[in-house]
Amino acid sequence: MAERRRRRRLGRADYVDGVLGRDRAILGRAITLVESNLPAHQDLAQEVLQDLLPHTGGAHRVGITGVPGVGKSTFIEGLGMRLVDAGHRLAVLAIDPTSGRTGGSILGDKTRMARLSVDPRCFIRPSPTEGSLGGVHRKTRETLLLCEAAGHDVVFVETVGVGQSEFAVAAMVDSFLVLMLAGAGDGLQGIKRGILELAEILVVHKADGDNAEPARRAAREYAGALHFLQPTSPGWTTPVLTASSLTGAGVDEVWDAVTSHRAQLRATGTLDARRQDQRRRWMWDMVDSELGRRLRADPRVQARAPVLEQDVVAGSRTAVAAAQELLALVLDAGPLARD
Ligand code: GDP
Repeated sequence: MAERRRRRRLGRADYVDGVLGRDRAILGRAITLVESNLPAHQDLAQEVLQDLLPHTGGAHRVGITGVPGVGKSTFIEGLGMRLVDAGHRLAVLAIDPTSGRTGGSILGDKTRMARLSVDPRCFIRPSPTEGSLGGVHRKTRETLLLCEAAGHDVVFVETVGVGQSEFAVAAMVDSFLVLMLAGAGDGLQGIKRGILELAEILVVHKADGDNAEPARRAAREYAGALHFLQPTSPGWTTPVLTASSLTGAGVDEVWDAVTSHRAQLRATGTLDARRQDQRRRWMWDMVDSELGRRLRADPRVQARAPVLEQDVVAGSRTAVAAAQELLALVLDAGPLARD
């Protein structure tokens, strides 16, 4: 412990060289830097990322979502072991939108992926447990870039399919994989249509034992439902597969579908276009969220907001007029305080 506490402060070049040199300890510290909310750390993190940018983009970025209990960790462990055995360098990043609220991360548990988490060919990082959802997503995106710079050629971004996080994850990956269960929520009624629209590969999981036949039936139903949706990219028909992480049946086929999807994106030029679009959107997302955060934190806004809020709540002033007054208070008067 004493050794840890006395560890050397790293500078920009130390981080960059360490990450490019695939030093796991430094990669971990670079991620901690990216996750820090201290302005000085954030500035250094941006410098490091800027230097590493030319070395990013090399991974196949795969989003994986599904409700708690669908078997995401078991699936990632099984598929992940196959990938590292086949020579891939895997990184698994997890976004858990519930962790902030429950005070403990259900995804952070090392025992969830017992073999992968101790395998040197794999790097697992749970999501930061504090901060706004927007902040968590930023940190995950930047962590993904760091992992690519450190030579990981497959990155899984896992999220619990219960909130808005799956949309954010879909906006940072190349292929979006959705795990489903047969019979969950009585057929298609209980399935969020939004998730189906995002799915690029749909897997009915736990297709084993007595559940094998219902899983196949559910797969046919999903395939029918997907038929009516817009393709996620030109020419791509979302395959609906069945798999079992218990028996291993169908797991290779899922990976084949993921690689076919990527090949198709590449062949049509969609991969580059999609990533460019993701980066453009990300920039504006950051502008929106930073602007909102700084506005709310500005002392002038904080002084005036309670009165305006009261008026709006009481119905004596319109929400739009109050919003305009708050914006003018700051934007017409000078720069926003950073923190
Ligand atoms: P997560 O919450 O989505 O990460 O789900 P877990 O991976 O923790 O799995 C939830 C439960 O389902 C555990 O008890 C697993 O053993 C079980 N499970 C996972 N995959 C399968 C599978 O393919 N078949 C069966 N029958 N059970 C599975």
